[in-house]
Amino acid sequence: MVTNELKQKEQQFQTIYNNLDAGIWSVDVQRNKMIVCSNGVSNIYGEDAIKFLEDRDLWESFIHPEDKPAVAKAQHQLQKGKTIRQQYRIYTKKGEMKWVKGRCIPTLDENGKLVRIDGIVEDITAEKKYMDQVEYLATHDHVTNLPNRRKFEKKLKNFIRQMKKERDSLAVFYLGLNRFKHINDTLGHDVGDRLLQRIANRLKKCVTPDVMLARVGEDELAICFLSLAHMNECQKLAAALFQEIEKEITIDDFSLYVTASIGISIYPHDGEDVKTLLTNANLAMRRAKEIGRSDWQLYSPLMDSETYKSYHLEKGLRNALLQNEFFIEYQPKVHTNSREIDSIEALIRWNHPEWGRVSPEDFIPLAEETHLIIELGDWVIENVCKQLQQWKNQGLQTVPVSINVSSKHLLKRGFVEHVQQTLAHYNIDPSFIEFEVTESSIIQYEEHVKKVMDELKKSGVTFALDDFGTGFSSLSHLKDFEFNTLKIDKTFIQHATDKGKQQAITKSILYLAHALNMKVIAEGVETKEQLAFLQKHECSFIQGYIVSQPAAPQKIAEYLKKRFL
Ligand code: C2E
Ligand code: MG
Ligand code: MG
Repeated sequence: MVTNELKQKEQQFQTIYNNLDAGIWSVDVQRNKMIVCSNGVSNIYGEDAIKFLEDRDLWESFIHPEDKPAVAKAQHQLQKGKTIRQQYRIYTKKGEMKWVKGRCIPTLDENGKLVRIDGIVEDITAEKKYMDQVEYLATHDHVTNLPNRRKFEKKLKNFIRQMKKERDSLAVFYLGLNRFKHINDTLGHDVGDRLLQRIANRLKKCVTPDVMLARVGEDELAICFLSLAHMNECQKLAAALFQEIEKEITIDDFSLYVTASIGISIYPHDGEDVKTLLTNANLAMRRAKEIGRSDWQLYSPLMDSETYKSYHLEKGLRNALLQNEFFIEYQPKVHTNSREIDSIEALIRWNHPEWGRVSPEDFIPLAEETHLIIELGDWVIENVCKQLQQWKNQGLQTVPVSINVSSKHLLKRGFVEHVQQTLAHYNIDPSFIEFEVTESSIIQYEEHVKKVMDELKKSGVTFALDDFGTGFSSLSHLKDFEFNTLKIDKTFIQHATDKGKQQAITKSILYLAHALNMKVIAEGVETKEQLAFLQKHECSFIQGYIVSQPAAPQKIAEYLKKRFL
């Protein structure tokens, strides 16, 4: 009765596991015999279950040769009573490759001796294929089917490790296509994409196990060559690449000619990690671009200086406006004798999260090369107005504020209206705003600038000529533009007590300004001697560290209360 029940139960289980996709098996270790082998096993291996039951080691012959050592190694765990989980490849009886996931569960007797192993094996080929596809999509560029930046970085890391072991070097070529954006814009993205495909296909020819090619940016490719360090080898390769790229490409009715610029960095000479090597190759590529088409450059640490700095500065500047990294300091300008505050100058400041304070001398010229100077200028105007309103609301007796403005900004269509609207919005009297312009910046667009100045002056805004003496400084300019104020550049003030040529110039500037009935301010006054000289020669206003450094609005509020500094 009991055996009958057992038999029934066993049959029940057999029906269940013979209908599973997974294969179930069991080995009696002491008898060295497979005692259970379900249909699932024979379906996966394509071999009759009876064959496995007859030959306990048969399953091992199906394992992919490359995976055999790992599978065999893990078997030792069973002696210790540990379950093993493994994924490996097999070849079925028909020769089809499959991925399987196996689990082996050991049973030990009371003496700790392995007596039985039960196992489950599953076919995970479809799952693996799907994962491979996902992996491929995540690591390849869909236009060219080349590896993408992620893949390149990962593989480069492995290459570096390999070269380190072999005490060998490698070269990273960063290749930028010139004027690709232009082609994209004029002929459309479809043509641009096909152009890239053609170029990629041409370059794919040079790929070997020791060469990796990837698309790392919109118009940028990167190539890594193992065991390469010599300049003339690099030159040969660059020349070969240029030749491939520059061959005519016909797409629809267009004959296109593309050129490229290449930057090269060498491991370990120019960097020992992925990031440094890529950054330096990219830097060298930019330098090559500056020099001209179809040029290549080896990275040199000298490149770190100017180009690199301005490249990052520019990127940082764009971010800075969004991230609120700018603020304004104010520096008083006072009557030379009484030291009463006459007005204040707004000076922009940039507090970069990593670099700390960046000087306007560094970032203003850079902003002037792009549209950023206008956004920056508008930001300053708006914030000065806000500040003036705030001081007024605090019951302080405010003074005019001068704002440095770039000629590019003055020339922006709608500048006059924009200023007027901003002033009106914050309820600021236009006579409380003065714009400081430098002479060299107006010289190129005289007519235009004059028109804008005249319009603004009509509404009550005043103008100062900043850094006077450093530009062309001709008398005619002073007359034509009718500046209200003239600011003598600090370099003259710093040499005013030297009794040389500079002193003579300073004296004559003061004389000239008086004759033209202009208000004169000496910038950068630092010492008592300078102050005495300016008093003697009747310079009415001074600005400089001797009075105050540029300061935060709270400090200025205190100054406004005191009035005399
Ligand atoms: P600037 O308009 O001639 O400004 C005067 C500069 O001299 C300021 O430098 C100021 O901090 C500095 N200074 C003041 N007193 C002394 C002194 O006693 N000794 C010395 N050695 N220096 C003194 P900062 O703030 O670095 O500004 C440099 C330049 O950047 C400015 O020269 C101006 O051309 C430009 N700038 C500053 N803010 C703005 C802005 O909001 N817009 C534009 N477009 N340009 C700005
Ligand atoms: Mg100024
Ligand atoms: Mg100045």
